[in-house]
Amino acid sequence: MSSRLLTIWLSLFVSLPLAAQGASPAIPTPRSVLGFEPGDDRRLADWPTLLRYYQALARASDRIDIREIGKTTLGAPFVALAISSPLNLRRLDVLRRLNSRLADPRTIRSNRDAATALHDARTTVLITSGIHSDEVGGSLTPVMLAYRLATDTSAATRAILDDVVLWLVPSLNPDGVSIVAKWYARTVGTPAEGSDPPELYHTYVGHDNNRDWYAFTQIETRLVVDSLYNVWHPQIVLDLHQQGSTGSRLFLPPYLDPIEPEVDPLLVDGINALGQSIAWELAVQGKTGISVNAIYDAWTPARAYGHYHGAVRILAEAASADLASPVQVPFDRLQASARGFNPRERSWNFTMPWPGGRWSLRDIVSYQTESAYALLQHAARYRDRWLSSFLSVGWHAVRGWRGWPYAYVIPRQQDSMALATLLGILTRGQVEIRVAQQAFTMSGQRYAAGTFVVVLRQPYAAFAKTLLEPQRYPDRRLYPGGPPERPYDVTAHTLPLLLGLKVALVDDTLRVPLSAPVAPPRATPGYPGFTASGGGAPRIGVYRSYLAPIDEGWTRWVFDTWKIPYVSVVDSVARAGRLKEKLDVLVLPDQGPRDIAEGVPQRRYPPPYPGGLGPDGIQALRQFVTEGGTLVALNDASRFVIQALLLPVRNVLEGVPAEDFYAPGSIFRIVIDQNHPIARGLGSEAAAWFEDGPAFDVLDSSQVRVVARYPDDPGDLLLSGWVRHPERVAGRAALVEVRVGAGRVVLFGFRPQYRGQSLATYPLLFNSLQLH
Ligand SMILES: [Zn+2]
Repeated sequence: MSSRLLTIWLSLFVSLPLAAQGASPAIPTPRSVLGFEPGDDRRLADWPTLLRYYQALARASDRIDIREIGKTTLGAPFVALAISSPLNLRRLDVLRRLNSRLADPRTIRSNRDAATALHDARTTVLITSGIHSDEVGGSLTPVMLAYRLATDTSAATRAILDDVVLWLVPSLNPDGVSIVAKWYARTVGTPAEGSDPPELYHTYVGHDNNRDWYAFTQIETRLVVDSLYNVWHPQIVLDLHQQGSTGSRLFLPPYLDPIEPEVDPLLVDGINALGQSIAWELAVQGKTGISVNAIYDAWTPARAYGHYHGAVRILAEAASADLASPVQVPFDRLQASARGFNPRERSWNFTMPWPGGRWSLRDIVSYQTESAYALLQHAARYRDRWLSSFLSVGWHAVRGWRGWPYAYVIPRQQDSMALATLLGILTRGQVEIRVAQQAFTMSGQRYAAGTFVVVLRQPYAAFAKTLLEPQRYPDRRLYPGGPPERPYDVTAHTLPLLLGLKVALVDDTLRVPLSAPVAPPRATPGYPGFTASGGGAPRIGVYRSYLAPIDEGWTRWVFDTWKIPYVSVVDSVARAGRLKEKLDVLVLPDQGPRDIAEGVPQRRYPPPYPGGLGPDGIQALRQFVTEGGTLVALNDASRFVIQALLLPVRNVLEGVPAEDFYAPGSIFRIVIDQNHPIARGLGSEAAAWFEDGPAFDVLDSSQVRVVARYPDDPGDLLLSGWVRHPERVAGRAALVEVRVGAGRVVLFGFRPQYRGQSLATYPLLFNSLQLH
């Protein structure tokens, strides 16, 4: 963009706030603290700078409060801004109590009571931004939004401030803001400009940080759930994201099918109406390239805590540039194969195609800021409808839906860590857990006094039900009889299976006295055999690719949480060889063969990042195993090791198209050889997380031992989720040990520590580390 054009752009962008400054002269402009205008090409701010701005804004404006609600994984302040009229901010506690009553209809005693609460309450909106730190608009849009709400004197903004309480989380991942800003500043003007950093932008879980909204494994998730969702009970949640560069300029709901069946239909109506209303408002402003009802479905609670807690979740996905560097996207490079629409053709859900051309951070910030503002206008204008809908959703849950079971029963005599995890998750999700005060018998089964009971008639019953029941993902095809239609994410989230717990369903009323809601039991993670003091503890390495695969982070998170010591092994260390002198075990987290071998590209990244393991690394792995080391390969990494070490094992799914086998994140039954040391502590069967993994045929049984296999009967395979053509893997090996020289390779065909949730199969991984 020429400097003259840039000036025009800038003046368009800042004219409104500057004009409004007369009313509040002391309010700092973004430029005065950041040193640039949010949206300027090639300019990003780190978290301390952004934080300074929000603090200055809150000091200067009586429309903004700032609260530090905790510290991030790396110890940075995690903040939320409350934005509303000065009057509302002064009586925030009163408004919070009103909202809490609407959230739990059991506290509303009469129609008059309801009418008063509905009249006095404000729409509560939660806007969360920047969970994915390389979607850099997300770190700057909240600056523009907060500044506008602090300074604008228009009637529309006054209505928003009067009728809405906005909680704005300017970054759901402050650590990542600085990681990305630092990498960008270091690489701008080099071939690596605009590339992703060679590390996860959330220390442990990278991009999976927005797949954590029911497992609550990470500090940042817990802070938002505990201090915002569960306290302020938003009716509307806006989550700001970015998508690729070659699709629509902005996605807004409605979502595609399937909608997860426990999501209240009123919420789906609210999502559809609100998403469309934002799209309409942006179209009126002349913004083009907006798609609705495309790409994103609403199947998983992992991304949508709100959908199980009375809130609509509006996902806004703006097209990306190259971080803060502008991109050129000619019209004919727009990706014609997008799901649900074609960015080159007008359709009902893509009414005005974008003509192609330059796309910059300023465009992103503008689309996102205007989306948020339009959402707030809707929240203000339809306050009565949002609040009464919210109350109705609560009523539906408290009264129970037709066809819902009465309760779930969870026996107490089970693995204490798994039980503490399940009941801890339900409690954090505000599900009430009671205990049976006497022993009782149900379906011929006796349950002791103290058995946990989750009665479904309660405000957040949907959250409990979706996590406790097996998922039956619909058999969706691209066209009748055609290949499977890929879901946006995985298809299963049944916690009792992932945790290895027995849970029973109660269809009718349970005839046993129940306690008041109880606190969940506590347990401390730990596994025998890893304490250094005992001697003989394995020296463990975890391979750390500069492509930053998410599973590498999850592996470290699980090891840190379970106090399993390890060191990270980067390419240069692996390529240098003599690994056996330093390590007994090397873990290769889930990563594709080519990515492991080649790493980040040479032409783009500076040393020491490019190259992957390469031939030297592969030679080093072979030597390590031959000399007695244990190499543990997880999921896709197993395919790498089979090829690299020429193991006598064949992946029966290699090259099999989706038409012939499909399971995009499902829970499978595995049958276990309990005599194998890797199976120590497990029963004869377990539930394993299957996601694009291999399944094995053994080519030389003198060298290979099968530790776990899929059941022979294809009908027994699927426990939760979706599978097409289960016969492809029925009877095949899921976990094998291959002897090589003095050492061994352990190949997992599933993900034993899936997103920190699959405690049922953790022992298989932990035991694999102790074979030396
Ligand atoms: Zn994102």
